[in-house]
Amino acid sequence: MSRESFDLIVIGGGPGGHAAAEEAARLGARTCIIEEHAWGGTCTHRGCIPTKALLTCSRRYADLKKLKRLGINPGDAGFDYAAFQRHREQMIRVSALGVEKSLKEAGAVMKIGNGRILSPGQVCYTSGAGAGEVLEASHLVIAWGAEPSWPSFVDLPRPPLGTYPQAMSHVLPAAGSAPAAPESPWADDEKKYAPDSAGLRPRRLLTSDAFLRLATMPQSVVILGGSVIGVEFATFLAEVGAKVEIVEMLPNIIPYEEEDAAVLLAKELQRMGIKLHTSLSVNSLEEKAEGVVMAGEQHGKGVALEAEYALVCTGRRPRLDERSLRELGIEHNRRGITVNDRQETNVTGIYAVGDVTGGIMLAHRARQQGRALANRLFGDGTVAYREEAVPSVIYSHPPVARVGLTERQAREKGWDIEIRRTDYGANIMARTELAGQGFAKFIFHDGRLLGATIAGEGAPELIAALALAMTAGADLKTLQAWIIPHPTLSEVLRL
Ligand code: FAD
Repeated sequence: MSRESFDLIVIGGGPGGHAAAEEAARLGARTCIIEEHAWGGTCTHRGCIPTKALLTCSRRYADLKKLKRLGINPGDAGFDYAAFQRHREQMIRVSALGVEKSLKEAGAVMKIGNGRILSPGQVCYTSGAGAGEVLEASHLVIAWGAEPSWPSFVDLPRPPLGTYPQAMSHVLPAAGSAPAAPESPWADDEKKYAPDSAGLRPRRLLTSDAFLRLATMPQSVVILGGSVIGVEFATFLAEVGAKVEIVEMLPNIIPYEEEDAAVLLAKELQRMGIKLHTSLSVNSLEEKAEGVVMAGEQHGKGVALEAEYALVCTGRRPRLDERSLRELGIEHNRRGITVNDRQETNVTGIYAVGDVTGGIMLAHRARQQGRALANRLFGDGTVAYREEAVPSVIYSHPPVARVGLTERQAREKGWDIEIRRTDYGANIMARTELAGQGFAKFIFHDGRLLGATIAGEGAPELIAALALAMTAGADLKTLQAWIIPHPTLSEVLRL
C-alpha cells in the first residue's frame, strides 16, 4: 500500500466536510477530502437543493392563480412534471459542480471512494475500483452526515454503511412487466443494489431520498410526520394538484416552532386542500401493489388512511459507523458523535462536524462548524460558530423561519420576557405583493434579543438579518435604531 501525508483529512463531502476542507486548503494546509458518492452530500443530492428546486416550480405555478386579482389572465396554464424533474436534476448538477470547483480552486486533494479511520492520524482510503491506500494526517475530520430514520413498523430496507442509503428504495422486484426505475444520477448504484434488475415494480412506501426521484407525479400521498420535511413535501404536492394528507403524532404540525406559526401554517395548508391529522398515532403502514394503508389511533378511535404512496418523514439520524467508533473509542450515542464547542471528539486529533454530531440538522450549521474548525486549526481562529445564532427555515408556502428561542422555550427557562409582534396586514409591500397572512415575532429578555420567528412570504430572506442581529448580540435599542428602506417587506422587522 502506498502512503500519502496531509495536514488534514476530511471524510465526507457534504456541507460540513466541504467547508472544513475548503477553509483549510485556502489557509495553506495540505488537505485531502474523501467522498464516497458525489460532491455536495445530502444537501446537494437529496436535501436542500432538490427540494427547493421542486418547490420553486410548484410555487411559480400556484402563483399564477393570484395573477387574476391583478387583472392578468394566465390562460390555461399547465405544467410538465418531467420538466420539473429536469430542473431538479440540473440544480443538483450546478450545486455539485460548484462544490467541486471551490475545493479544486482552494487546492484540496479530492478523492472519490470510502474513507475509514484506522487510528488517530491514519485513514484507509478505498477507491471505487477497490484499491486501498493509507493516508496520514495529524488532524482528521468526520463529516459522515445523516440518513432518514423511521419507526419499527415501517418496512424499509437499510443498506449497510458504505452503500448509498436508500438507493433502491423506490423499486421492488416483482413478477410481470412494470415501470422501469426512473433516471437518476445514482443509476449505477441502483443497478448495483437491484435485487433483480428485470421486472421492477414501484415501491409505495418511500423516504424523501427516493420520493424526490419519482418519475411520474403521485396522485395521492399520505405523509407520516408533520415537521419540516413533511410540510415541505406536502406544499409541493398540493400545489401540483396531488391529494395530500399529513399525519402527525403531536397536537400541532411543526411542533418545535412557535405555536402561532404552526396555527398559521396549518390554516394555509388546509386552504390548499391538505388534510391534517394531528394527535394521530400510527401503528401500522402496509404496502400493497397499488398503494398503502396506514392505520392508527386518534383520540381513542381507530383511523385508517389509504393513498397511492406513503412518504415517511419521521426524522433523520446520524450516520454512525458503530464498528469504527467503538474500535477508536470515540464517544457517541444514538444522537450522534459527542463533540465539545470546538468540534473535538474525546480522541485527540479527531474532530466531527455537521449532522453526524446530532442537534439541528442544517446545511449552514454544518458549514459553519466545518469552517470555524479549519480556521481554528490552520488560521487565526477568528471564524466563530455560535449555536444560538443558527437560523432555521421551513420552505412551506408560506414559509416559517426562526433564529434563537421560541416563546415557549424562553418561558421554560423561567426568564421574564418581552414579546413584540408585527403583522403582514400592516405592511404595505406585503399588501401590494399579495403576500397574504404573516407575522414577525420577537422575544427579548432585559432588552436582549433571545429569538425571533417570521411566518409569511419572504421569511427565508428576512431571517438572515435577524441571524446577524443574534450573532452580534443586538438589543432592542439597536433594532429600533435600524433604518429600513420604505416601502419594503423588511419593514415588518421595524420595532
Ligand atoms: P451530508 O450532507 O449528509 O454529507 C455527508 C457525506 O459524507 C455524504 O455525501 C456521504 O456520502 C459521505 N460519507 C459518509 N461516510 C463516508 C465514508 N466513510 N467515506 C466517504 N464518504 C462518506 N438543510 C438546510 O440547511 N436547508 C434546507 O433547506 C434543507 N433541506 C433538506 C431537505 C431534505 C429532504 C433533507 C433530507 C435534508 C435537508 N437539509 C436542509 C439538511 C441538510 O441536507 C443537512 O443538514 C446537510 O447536508 C448536512 O451536511 P453534512 O456535511 O453534515 O452531511
